[in-house]
Amino acid sequence: MKLNRDRRHRQPSPMDPSSAICVQAADIPTSLLREEMKGGTAEPSEHVKRNVRPTKSKDSTLEAPHRSVDGDFYNIRQFVGTADQALLGRVRAFAEKKVAPIINQCWGRAEFPFEILPEYGALGIAGAPYSGFGCSGKSALLDGLIMMELARIDCSIATFHGVHSGLAMGSIYLCGSDEQKQRWLPAMQRAEKIGAFALTEPAVGSGVARGLTTTARRRGKHWVLNGQKRWIGNATFADLTVLWARDVDDNQVKGFVVEKGAPGFAAEKMQHKMALRVVQNATITLEDCRVAEENRLANAHSFKDTAAVLRMTRAGVAWESVGCAQGAYEHALRYACQREQFDRPIARFQLVQDLLVRMLSNVTASQCMVLRLSQLQDAGLLREEHASLAKAFCTVRARETVGWARELLGGNGILLDHNVGRFVADAEAIYSYEGTREINALVVGRAITGFGAFV
Ligand SMILES: Cc1cc2nc3c(=O)[nH]c(=O)nc-3n(C[C@H](O)[C@H](O)[C@H](O)COP(=O)(O)OP(=O)(O)OC[C@H]3O[C@@H](n4cnc5c(N)ncnc54)[C@H](O)[C@@H]3O)c2cc1C
Repeated sequence: MKLNRDRRHRQPSPMDPSSAICVQAADIPTSLLREEMKGGTAEPSEHVKRNVRPTKSKDSTLEAPHRSVDGDFYNIRQFVGTADQALLGRVRAFAEKKVAPIINQCWGRAEFPFEILPEYGALGIAGAPYSGFGCSGKSALLDGLIMMELARIDCSIATFHGVHSGLAMGSIYLCGSDEQKQRWLPAMQRAEKIGAFALTEPAVGSGVARGLTTTARRRGKHWVLNGQKRWIGNATFADLTVLWARDVDDNQVKGFVVEKGAPGFAAEKMQHKMALRVVQNATITLEDCRVAEENRLANAHSFKDTAAVLRMTRAGVAWESVGCAQGAYEHALRYACQREQFDRPIARFQLVQDLLVRMLSNVTASQCMVLRLSQLQDAGLLREEHASLAKAFCTVRARETVGWARELLGGNGILLDHNVGRFVADAEAIYSYEGTREINALVVGRAITGFGAFV
């Protein structure tokens, strides 16, 4: 095979995720091209037209086609209508143009890019699946696809969105009175007010259903909260934190909206995270924190109501892990087509193709699973075990996929500049939050056997 010597020592640079990769025609087996053009017609097949667009080259026998990289192999986006697909296009443009160029620097410094908030708000994706109170009443499927689009570029920004739109707005939407929804949701939908969700405690993670220790005492028209929360995303800067505490009078878990500046509320940023470093996780300390009765979520009477919020958002985390795997796969595919060893792109090696196909299989299987999950959700048929199965399965597959992507990049796989290392680290956090794999397995196990095996 004649090789273009200029290409021989070319190294892949850290890539813009939106860019199409340019593959020399020599990289595509001529038999495949011939096959694609079969019938002797001058017209290439739809596959070739879609994926192989020749560009000008000095040597016409080595014309370089552009090959678009798209990890949505079965085109699950087509399951939403054209207006929703257009919205997904805007989300993708936001993620690629506003998030991708700055995210590695933010990740390295563990800083949140506050400058993107106005454009995030303008997209109108916060609270997308809720109806009324400024929200657009979109499908759970679109909401999932939005999460996938964000995570495909960066899982910290997807997590920020999941906490604000899913956990915080979702708690108010599911557990608030109409008056409370009207008070907070419209401003949150525009991202003028940002939310956090505080359930986990330093000593209580998986066992929150039974072991919550933060207390709430009624004192006339106020409540007094005492205790600590840990891992609370967005909490260092949130305008309001939905906080769950146990009422000492009836021993039930209740939800409170604690607004910024509430006396007795302190949020301290957690340091030295090795994953989702852009997310501002905090330890919250409540010392006789006073919250007005009108800030108690009117329809949160017990942990069952908290669990309803988690059921809804767990589906979103499953989608997030799919986006994480998809992003890593796309980076790996671009890299494989650019990186050359033994005088040829590594994408020409059978073992590398095998790795890519394994990744794509994971991504595609997971996409089909969450697609069906959201269809169940939209039909009002979602059960706790449905969401748990998808969260557990997709996060395992994502963890595996990002590991393969890292492997494919060799040494560059651990450099932040090449993006994939960030996906590897972030997948670890997604694997554990909103129910670890073990806890979700136990939820499904209980549903299919009838035996609860948590303790
Ligand atoms: C980056 C990040 C962001 C987060 N954001 C938030 C947030 O915004 N708000 C919030 O409230 N929380 C948040 N969390 C907390 C998260 O939900 C918890 O980390 C998670 O629920 C697990 O709890 P834990 O870390 O205390 O682990 P533990 O509960 O201590 O579990 C440790 C290990 O024991 C296993 N285990 C526990 N119980 C059982 C059992 N019965 N059977 C078998 N195995 C078991 C677990 O699976 C796990 O492997 C966040 C966490 C992270 C890492």
